Formats: sequence, C-alpha cells, structure tokens
Amino acid sequence: MNIAEIITIGDELLIGQTVDTNSAWIGMQLSMRGIRVNRITSISDRREEIITALDEALGRVPLVLVTGGLGPTSDDVTKQTLAEYFGSSLVIDREVLAEVTERLARRNLEMNENNRRQALVPDNCVVLANRAGTAPGMLFEKEGRIIISMPGVPSEMKYIMQEHVLPLVAARAGGRTIIHRNIMTYGTFEAKLAERLQVFEAELPATVKLAYLPAYGVIKLRLTGTGDDGVAVHRTVEEQVRKLYSVIPDVIYGEDEVTLEEVAGKLLLDNNLTVSTAESCTGGRIASLITSVPGSSSWFRGSVVAYDNIIKTGVLGVDPAVISRFGAVSEETARAMAEGVRRLTATDYAIAVTGIAGPTGGTPEKPVGTVWIAIASPAGIIAEKHRFADDRAINISRSAYTALNLLRKQIINR
Ligand code: AMP
Ligand code: MG
Repeated sequence: MNIAEIITIGDELLIGQTVDTNSAWIGMQLSMRGIRVNRITSISDRREEIITALDEALGRVPLVLVTGGLGPTSDDVTKQTLAEYFGSSLVIDREVLAEVTERLARRNLEMNENNRRQALVPDNCVVLANRAGTAPGMLFEKEGRIIISMPGVPSEMKYIMQEHVLPLVAARAGGRTIIHRNIMTYGTFEAKLAERLQVFEAELPATVKLAYLPAYGVIKLRLTGTGDDGVAVHRTVEEQVRKLYSVIPDVIYGEDEVTLEEVAGKLLLDNNLTVSTAESCTGGRIASLITSVPGSSSWFRGSVVAYDNIIKTGVLGVDPAVISRFGAVSEETARAMAEGVRRLTATDYAIAVTGIAGPTGGTPEKPVGTVWIAIASPAGIIAEKHRFADDRAINISRSAYTALNLLRKQIINR
C-alpha cells in the first residue's frame, strides 16, 4: 500500500473561497512515510461527483483519503453518499453521541437534531474518534482497498490523520523508504544554479532525485532518496547533501524550510550581536522580517524608515551634500545611512537600503530596480549595488532578502 490518492470535497474549494491546504498537508505526511501520492482531486458537495471520484480513485490505487463534507448541515453530503456507496445503514454510535453530548455540555449548548446526526455512522465502517471536533472519521475497506473519510476542518483532519491514519499507513507501507532533504539557497537564479550543478546532477545515483523549487529569490533544492533499505537510503542522501555543500557553498544558507530572517537571527543570537536597519525603498520590510522571528528582541534594536531625504539627513545624519552630489540612491548615501542608524541605535550591525522600487522614478543611469545595500559593523562598512526587476513588489522583497543574506555573510565571515 505505497500509493494513494486524495479527494477533497467542498464547494468552497472550487469557488476559491477556501484554499485546499488539506491535500498539501496530507501529501507531505504521506510522502514522508514512503507513500507516493498519485493524484489529488477536488470536487463539489454533490453525490454524483463523490461517487464518480471514489470509483475512479479506487480503480487506480489501494488507498484513498477523503476530506470534507462531514458537517452537520444539509450542504454536506459525504457521509450519506459513502453509506450509499458501501451499502450501509446509518446507526447511532454511542461513543460518538456521548462525545458530542459532552462537548456541547462543556460549551453550555443544547443538543439538537443536527448534532444528533453527527453521531450517525455507517454500520460497516471503522469509526475513527475525533477528539478535536464532533464529526468522526470513517474507514471503509472494500476488496483490499481502503477509503478513509475525514472532516474538512484542518485541525480535525490533522487529529484523525495523526491519531489513526498515519500509524495505519506506516504499518502497511511495506517497508519502502522515501527521504526528502531540502537545501535552501539564496543569491543566485535557477538557470545559473542548474549550470553549476550539471556535473553533480549527472553523477547522482539512480536512487536520488534532485528538484529545484524557486520562490522569491530563494531556491530550495530538494533531494529525494528512495529504496527498500532505509539505512542505505539515509546514507546515500546524506552523501549527496554533503557533496552539494562542497559544490555550491556560497549560496547555501540553511536546510528544511528555514528562512533567511531565522538564520540571520540565530547567528546574531549565538554570537551575542545586535542589529538595526535604515530603510528607504523597503519601507520597514527588513525590520518586519527580522521581528517575525520569535525572540528577536534579543538581537533587534529598531529601524528608521528613512523614506524622505529629510529623514535621511535629519534623523540619520546623512550629509545633505552627499545626497545632492551622489543622489539618494547611491553607494555614499547607503553607507551614510548604515553608519547613521548604527550610531543612533548603538548596535553591532546596521543594514541600510536605498533604491528605486518603481514603477516610476527610474533614470537611464539609475533604472527601476537599482538598489544599494550597505552593512555597517565594527569591521567597517560594505556596500553592494543590485539591479533587480521592473516590478515594485519583487524589488522590495528582493532588496529585503538580499540585505538579510548580506548580513548573514558578514557575520559568518567576520
Ligand atoms: P466540512 O467538513 O466540509 O464541513 O468543512 C468544514 C470547513 O473546513 C470548511 O468550511 C472549510 O473552511 C474547511 N475546509 C474544508 N476542506 C478543506 C480543505 N481541503 N483545505 C482546507 N480547509 C478546508
Ligand atoms: Mg463542507
């Protein structure tokens, strides 16, 4: 049983009112346990759709996980349809009824007909208790194939998955191991990275696959190892991870979904260092990223959003002559901003960013996307010029992440 399909049921999923996060979560959990997801299907709350989707999925795979449509109201029809599909009668489940009664009592609510309906279960399924809500999960077995129906509410689905479904599928997965390792990179682009990894890819063992997953300048490299011998799969993937570090050491900043703000924060914390920011075109985005990390008060002192030149000169102490001579978007201004905020906040490190986010404000010498980033530290001030994109949102987020990456490198190489 190492291949499965997921069916998510709910009109809200089809009209874009709710994003189907259940499939993504279930897919991740299954793949981590060596079960390949063959297909994800989202359908409306209609009897015919449910029956067709079940028929088709069961024709392809031995394990089908279903979420949604188990609520007590009339728009949810999954339970009745499953009962019809498996030829069951609906009976009151005493344990579920007791559970529902107790949950309602705790909240001082009266039992009504809708609640009582939640305790009705098909007589030929295994009831999967749901202590995170009222609608239980249901497991049906048909000709060696398993269908599990769970509520759509993500917390309830996760409870039933963790409590009942994952232990069951792990036991039946047949010993096959799939291991994923994510290596996070920043400061390059996909085509360039692929070029640098050409030899690495050509030398990958057949049991290991490499995928590129780019998002907002971060490129996640996912190595997936598959095999019957769990220890061997582990060892092979580890070897390839180590090899990756030796081929592209300059762009790897972490592993497994870690963010640049988390990595920078940890470096500052571990080395007992502090940071502040002076932000023009990023308007505080860097400060916002830094403070999104729990515990950031230990390493972050504050930020000056120096959007107007009057703040650059009046608050940060940038010499007006520097701005009139070199411009607000210049190496000299970026350096002076970093120096100014570092003095003002008395931090070890200070980040400054000044650039043209667009869409207006560009000139032939300084087109939209031109950004200067400076880092001031006890070692002095460094500055880098970047040319990002024509898009305002991209320019702002790229500026912020590139600044955090530069900070990270400065701390490592100090
Ligand atoms: P239901 O079990 O159909 O009553 O679902 C209850 C609620 O769970 C819905 O109103 C949605 O907000 C949420 N939900 C249902 N399906 C999903 C899904 N696939 N992903 C995320 N949330 C969902
Ligand atoms: Mg629903």
